[in-house]
Amino acid sequence: MQKLREVLEQAQKNRVAVGHFNIGDQNILMGVFAAARELRVPVMVGVSEGERAFLGVRQVAALVKSLRDEFDFPIFLNADHTHSLAKALEAANAGFDSIVFDLSALPFDENVRQTREAVQKLKAINPDILVEGEIGDIGSGSEIHETAPDLSKFRTTPDEAKKFIAATGIDILAPAVGNMHGLVPSMVEGKTKKHLDIERIAAIKNETHSLLTLHGGSGTDDDDFLRAIQAGINVVHINTELRLAWRNSLDASLAQHPGEVVPYKILPAMVESIKQVALSRLRLFNGATAQATGKSAG
Ligand SMILES: [Zn+2]
Repeated sequence: MQKLREVLEQAQKNRVAVGHFNIGDQNILMGVFAAARELRVPVMVGVSEGERAFLGVRQVAALVKSLRDEFDFPIFLNADHTHSLAKALEAANAGFDSIVFDLSALPFDENVRQTREAVQKLKAINPDILVEGEIGDIGSGSEIHETAPDLSKFRTTPDEAKKFIAATGIDILAPAVGNMHGLVPSMVEGKTKKHLDIERIAAIKNETHSLLTLHGGSGTDDDDFLRAIQAGINVVHINTELRLAWRNSLDASLAQHPGEVVPYKILPAMVESIKQVALSRLRLFNGATAQATGKSAG
């Protein structure tokens, strides 16, 4: 079984990106996993601190490991946006493959100091664990926001990216490059799309040669995604689009089955809806290879 670092380096070589999907429950995990298996592409699933508190840190680790082992499949588990060392260590001890250590709200020097300490302590638990650090501002929660904040002045510069990576020893950087967590109503309606600062991504890649993650990918223009991946993005996070599909399909399913109390009769439609979103994004991020493999796999 390939390690996550090898999977990401392979993606960099092939100029594709690994899809990362947040999972709020086991049904969402099964929908994402079904999509990755159909396309035969590696996949990352992530759980935020809130999602971990709901699912259980060790329980979600056991679920993902069971899929990896039973199907011999490259599915990896990420501790998304972790804001304290204690929570990061808890995830590392439970067997997570990567940790997003996010102290981007702190002043730069303090972010550096604490992230460097976290990298050392996490690697002591598991030398293969990948630690992602974050600088700049990409907005708050993966949900529907009334309006989009103006984050343009908080974009990551190539210079600070280089300094941050050198000073902390992180494996992956999450830059602020026009991306944003969550969606605004016009994006939910499909009337507007997010656009990315492709030149900035290319400049950060040139300066650092680091693995790069794009957070807040939901609602982003497809062509921007492709250009961002060519410019050096290696992982793309999708969360709000899955949450939206979850909610809408669950509403529809409940409405179609009035009086039904059997979960396994109500929930499969939701799993299928999650799978379709994941399929669409994984095909895009993995380029023509995945589309061809997807067709041959039926
Ligand atoms: Zn994020």
